[in-house]
Amino acid sequence: MKKLKVPAYDWRVVKELKRYALTTKAKDPWGHGKSSSKAFKREMTKLMLVEQSKRCGYCGCRLFEKRPHRDHIAPKEDYQQWMFWPENLVLSCFTCNTDLKKSFDPVVTMGSTYRLTEFSFVHPYIDTPTDHIDFTSGDLELIIQEKNGSLKGKKTIEIFDLASVERSKQRAKDIMHDDDVEHLQGDYRELLENAIEALQKKLVKVKARFPRPGD
Ligand SMILES: [Zn+2]
Repeated sequence: MKKLKVPAYDWRVVKELKRYALTTKAKDPWGHGKSSSKAFKREMTKLMLVEQSKRCGYCGCRLFEKRPHRDHIAPKEDYQQWMFWPENLVLSCFTCNTDLKKSFDPVVTMGSTYRLTEFSFVHPYIDTPTDHIDFTSGDLELIIQEKNGSLKGKKTIEIFDLASVERSKQRAKDIMHDDDVEHLQGDYRELLENAIEALQKKLVKVKARFPRPGD
């Protein structure tokens, strides 16, 4: 997990989209918006994939979904003004977005700007995860706990279930995968990446079709 940089986007377009989100009568301006909002969503996804190195912005696990979820950190239903705000958008895995965060509202107190707003969990662009979360097994990043009693760290671990066995196993798998890939060259590296990606996509599909209770 690392602090992310907000992808640079044309601020004139962002401001225009903000006006649109606040004034439109459209029922679902995010899902069925005008052409500039569609272009914005497409471009932002590309930029976020690069900035996030294809990792979930909340749990840090690899993103294998063909179309990763674009999550609104502050839910778009409650904060229309931030519906198209780059700092409020992050790519997240299926588990974090759909199973765990759902419509959770992390805003504690609204500030005069987005940056001055207080969030209850570690914000991917504003906070530095290592200030709030500690990994007791050092570089392996497996065992997780809040740092120096950080409430933000605690909330992040709780909301995204980061200390559970399942999620720890996922982090371990990711580390092993990175380690394997690091030692391979050229074609072999690509073959392994592709094979793992295909397998993960299958698993995501199966999980989406047959959710287990507690998933
Ligand atoms: Zn995640």
